[in-house]
Amino acid sequence: MIKLSSRLNGLEESITLAITAKANALRASGKNVIGLGAGEPDFDTPENIKEAAIKAIRDGKTKYTPVSGIAELKDAIIAKFKRDNNLAYTREQVLVSSGGKHSIFNLFQAIINPGDEVVIPAPYWVSYPAMVMLAGGRPVIVKTDEGAGFKMKPEEFAAAITPQTKAVVINSPSNPTGAAYTASELKDIASVALDKGVLIISDEIYEMLAYDGFKPVSIASTSDKAARNTVVLNGVSKAYAMTGWRIGYAAGPPAIIQAMTNIQSQSTSNPASISQWAAVEALNGTQGFIPMMVKEFASRRDAMVTGLNAINGISAKTPLGAFYVFANVSGVYGRGLPGMRLTDSSDLAVWLLDEAGVALVPGAPFGDDNYIRLSYATSMDNINEGIRRMGEALARLK
Ligand SMILES: *Cc1c(COP(=O)(O)O)cnc(C)c1O
Repeated sequence: MIKLSSRLNGLEESITLAITAKANALRASGKNVIGLGAGEPDFDTPENIKEAAIKAIRDGKTKYTPVSGIAELKDAIIAKFKRDNNLAYTREQVLVSSGGKHSIFNLFQAIINPGDEVVIPAPYWVSYPAMVMLAGGRPVIVKTDEGAGFKMKPEEFAAAITPQTKAVVINSPSNPTGAAYTASELKDIASVALDKGVLIISDEIYEMLAYDGFKPVSIASTSDKAARNTVVLNGVSKAYAMTGWRIGYAAGPPAIIQAMTNIQSQSTSNPASISQWAAVEALNGTQGFIPMMVKEFASRRDAMVTGLNAINGISAKTPLGAFYVFANVSGVYGRGLPGMRLTDSSDLAVWLLDEAGVALVPGAPFGDDNYIRLSYATSMDNINEGIRRMGEALARLK
């Protein structure tokens, strides 16, 4: 038996994937399962973007490209940062990767030495701590709660900093909570980071998905000094319904981007050439798709929040961004049936899948076991039916 790398120590199998596998198995056996676990828009990629990819294939744009991305895409990314965030970057400050997740992975590989700490506010995207650990670092979790809008306060951040602290991860709007920081909250967090020499990592993948007139701000844009001390991560997956195309990008200090590029050059090389041309069209072409999708998500969000709050034992605040509701389900813990008692978020997720045919994600892997994550990136009919089934199943518990 081959002994596996010790880098895997502490790395757990994703419960999310286990639930997805179980949901698929149930579907294959003929059971009707409502999926409220999706981590991607249910919309099709816009036609103009698909056409750009087809044209790229026909034009023979099917060979290796520069490792860090074609100049046309870097320029489109630079123009996007100028347009949306008032941030100025040069081509040397931009890396295009095979998805935003890949850029983040490259970043942790590029900056972390053994024992380095990365401050991560919880609830967090499941991959941040895992990627920090794979790079040999130590995730330092700062718990936030619903009362604080699931946002880390500057003094909580300051208290988590040690001489080993290398970076902090800000994900606004957030997966899984949908929480989004205001410009002034970001300025305060940035000032702590700048004061202590901590690199800011800002995952802005849900930037375009915000509701009620809220406009997310990049923490990098809160001052010139913040811009020089931040790596911004973004991509086309969520904003343009392009999850399968695998294009994400990073922008930041040239030395860090160069290091990330070197890692990418010795691992995956360039992201798919055809997808890069599609992303050029996504960023430079008409942006009409985004407001259409946001409007639809907003009404689904409202329906989901209202429906969840009508279920005894569940409470949900209205999220400001992304496409998830992080619902407090601690009120149902302790309830059960003869021979069965629900005690945590995994219990509940597995039970709802078996009993109600509703697939959703437990909160535990996101860092808070009192919650479940439900995605409204699915049809209004699915949302209504999913909530109805949940309410009916939970009403049977004593
Ligand atoms: C979806 C997502 C990403 C990136 O997704 P890619 O498809 O790899 O571009 C990054 N961060 C968060 C929090 C996400 O939810």
